[in-house]
Amino acid sequence: MYVYLFEEGSTKLRSLLGGKGADLAEMTALGLPVPPGLTVTTEACNYYSSHNFNFPPGLEQEIMNKLRLVEAKVGRVFGDANNPLLVSVRSGAPISMPGMMDTVLNLGLNDTTVQGLIRQTDNERFAYDAYRRFIQMFGKVVMGVRGDEFESIIRRHKESLKVESDVQLDSNTLRTLTREFKELIKKRTGKDFPDNPQTQLRMAVAAVFQSWNGQRAKVYRQANKISDTLGTGVNIQTMVFGNMGADSATGVCFTRNPSTGERVFFGEYLINAQGEDVVAGIRTPKPIAELRSDLGDTYHELSHVCELLEEHFRDMQDIEFTIEKKKLYLLQTRSGKRSATAAIKIAVDMVSEKLLTKEQALIRISPSQIEQLVHRQVDPSSRARPIATGLPASPGAATGKVIFDTDQAHQLGSAGESVILVREETAPEDIHGMIAARGVLTSRGGMTSHAAVVARGMGKPAVVGCEQIKIDPASHVFITRKVTVTENDIITIDGTTGNVLLGEVPTIEPKLSQEAEKLLGWADEIRKLGVRANADTPEGAAKGRGFGADGIGLCRTERMFNAQDRLPIVQQMILSDSDAARASSLEKLKPLQKNDFKEIFRNMHDLPVTIRLLDLPLHEFLPKYEELVRDVAELRTRESNETLTSKERILRKVITLTEHNPMLGHRGCRLAISHPEIYEMQTRAIFEAAAELLKEDVKVRVEIMLPLVGEANEIRFLRERVASVADEVLTRLNAKVEYKIGTMIEVPRAALTADEIAKYADFFSFGTNDLTQATFAFSRDDAEAKFFKDYFDKQILASNPFEVLDRRGVGKLMRFAAEEGRKVNPYLKVGICGEHGGEPSSVEFCHEIGLDYVSCSPYRVPIARLVASQAVARGRVAQSQENK
Ligand code: PEP
Ligand code: MG
Repeated sequence: MYVYLFEEGSTKLRSLLGGKGADLAEMTALGLPVPPGLTVTTEACNYYSSHNFNFPPGLEQEIMNKLRLVEAKVGRVFGDANNPLLVSVRSGAPISMPGMMDTVLNLGLNDTTVQGLIRQTDNERFAYDAYRRFIQMFGKVVMGVRGDEFESIIRRHKESLKVESDVQLDSNTLRTLTREFKELIKKRTGKDFPDNPQTQLRMAVAAVFQSWNGQRAKVYRQANKISDTLGTGVNIQTMVFGNMGADSATGVCFTRNPSTGERVFFGEYLINAQGEDVVAGIRTPKPIAELRSDLGDTYHELSHVCELLEEHFRDMQDIEFTIEKKKLYLLQTRSGKRSATAAIKIAVDMVSEKLLTKEQALIRISPSQIEQLVHRQVDPSSRARPIATGLPASPGAATGKVIFDTDQAHQLGSAGESVILVREETAPEDIHGMIAARGVLTSRGGMTSHAAVVARGMGKPAVVGCEQIKIDPASHVFITRKVTVTENDIITIDGTTGNVLLGEVPTIEPKLSQEAEKLLGWADEIRKLGVRANADTPEGAAKGRGFGADGIGLCRTERMFNAQDRLPIVQQMILSDSDAARASSLEKLKPLQKNDFKEIFRNMHDLPVTIRLLDLPLHEFLPKYEELVRDVAELRTRESNETLTSKERILRKVITLTEHNPMLGHRGCRLAISHPEIYEMQTRAIFEAAAELLKEDVKVRVEIMLPLVGEANEIRFLRERVASVADEVLTRLNAKVEYKIGTMIEVPRAALTADEIAKYADFFSFGTNDLTQATFAFSRDDAEAKFFKDYFDKQILASNPFEVLDRRGVGKLMRFAAEEGRKVNPYLKVGICGEHGGEPSSVEFCHEIGLDYVSCSPYRVPIARLVASQAVARGRVAQSQENK
């Protein structure tokens, strides 16, 4: 069966009938006033696509047979000269899809049946208006004549009659229009306009099928990951008319406010109009509340129907209706599109209204809706136009002065000015400028470039890879196609959309609404996966806690070495010739680090804090080789050579430390095995901080994490030293502090020998940034800059494995390592702290393989809380459906 009457369908047949068809069927079954009609199935569309644009055998007959039943119901006959049935033809795919065929209304009219319509309605003008609209729509949508060609004919008539609007055209002119429209169609297509209603219907159905494979629809499907195999349904429905006078109307309404989520009846309508008038915006529609005074009884009926539909579908509905001579008809209902704020309010309200369970509410909300809430937004009502658009790397909006130089950004920003740091790309040495800036704009780099990752980590807005701007640092300007922006000019960047705007644009403050807090509270009740924050400053820690983190899963300590006040001491330490000199530099660093730890611990009291000991190779803390060579060469030409001696010394050290491949070099635990005193100093700082806080009644739970372990002996060696320093400090200070020692799993060999490593680890934390690089054996920066584009274009990779966890490769290592590790140590805690820890599909995978927690940037904590709960909620919803 390829054709279903509305009475024969239901929402269970959504994939066969399309969304619109299924919902019309459901409304019919509820006894609501739906104009009778039928739906041609998506299977018929798929047959047509795969059989060289031929209908399945017997389809046309089946449509006509069912149409006979519709005729009987409404007491009119399709193509009849006296009492014609007119229909609308609309597409309707299983997933709502703009980009498909537009609607054709009033199908079934020709020079004969229009006379019947005049007799039926006793209104010649109305009938000719319907007829010319039909030819116009059919000519455009089905026969492919450009819409503006029809419009210019109408304009010509209006001009010669000296009238302003279509409504003022009389029936004679409208009749002339029908003739001229047909002539236009013949001229443009070489084909006659089909007079036979059955031919009209066949052509319209074929046009809907074809639109499934049209360019617009294909692009939309690709962008939204909708399968090409779904096909579209075709809905053929009895026409009703909202343009039959002052007691007729057409409109659209929502059962709640789609922008705030408030439970108020919301919508617009036009008196004496047909559907497309509302969409076309020719006349300004009135707010729905005014319908109460225009057509009171119908208003009450409509609001009653809306309540009923919402209760039935248990979701906010977007409803199209027509009122024909005071009689209400429903033409469509679907779940309405809404803002993130509205989505959350509606879901939470519907739980208290007992329309949804908490689990159902949780799975209604998408991670990106939560994401929208935690960042400052460009005010959606602002009319500012972007001057350029790049990648939306870190959401939120920021306004400030354009500054190109990192040090200057740092200076101005620290002095309280709002600054946007604009660079081709950023590197670790730009970090102080990024911290002081309100936002970051780069002209190069991808979604996981340094600028993107660091900005996201800080929750700072960033637009990266904005190739439409050309930066000329020498002249202190950047240029777009439209404007030249000079240093100190004010711009606004919108990291949610990737837009760059000139001047200050109004923004709105981010805040988790009460409803969002409530929803996330339900998420916490059911999720199995812990959610921690990656934070290495007291502010980051407080932010993470504020967003509901269960602890810190990664506190990188690099910043404690390269902050401005530490760098000279660190350099001294690196350059020391003797153990004593090195020890003395480390001794100077210890109190500074102790204070850092104290502040973080204080903000996280009672919650676990995982501190990763130093990971970076030492040369990262020294000036660049090229700079030193240049300086030395210049200094050699001068008289005084005191500075020269010092620079030469640094240069010699840089040369000894230089590595061919620093990513695989002398860093992490390898460095600590050569120089255990660095980790010893850090351990002292940590436990002295904890012991001091204990006196203030702040409970500290320390987890020390050793980076880059790939061999069990590495962790065995370091664990012993770290533990003995910790115990020594705690005994000396007579303090009792709970602590764990564990490792990152970020080297494939660590995953493969997890059973051996687990003997010395209280916890594992997957460092999936490094683990992804090492597993694929490509470096992130090179891959993103050089060949990922080809990989995506040629479909070698479906997504960027540095953003979405590679389940089949990296994920397999993770699953294996977690299982092997737990076999040896059943108490082993296992988490993840790479960038993937806040990415929805990766969080879902972590739940699936039974990790204990994910850790991500503070701003992604609410997203991870939601996603972690959704996996559980889906299972419970499926279970309760099975039990019914
Ligand atoms: C990782 O490798 O995943 C990780 C968290 O460490 P980093 O990004 O600091 O190398
Ligand atoms: Mg790492």
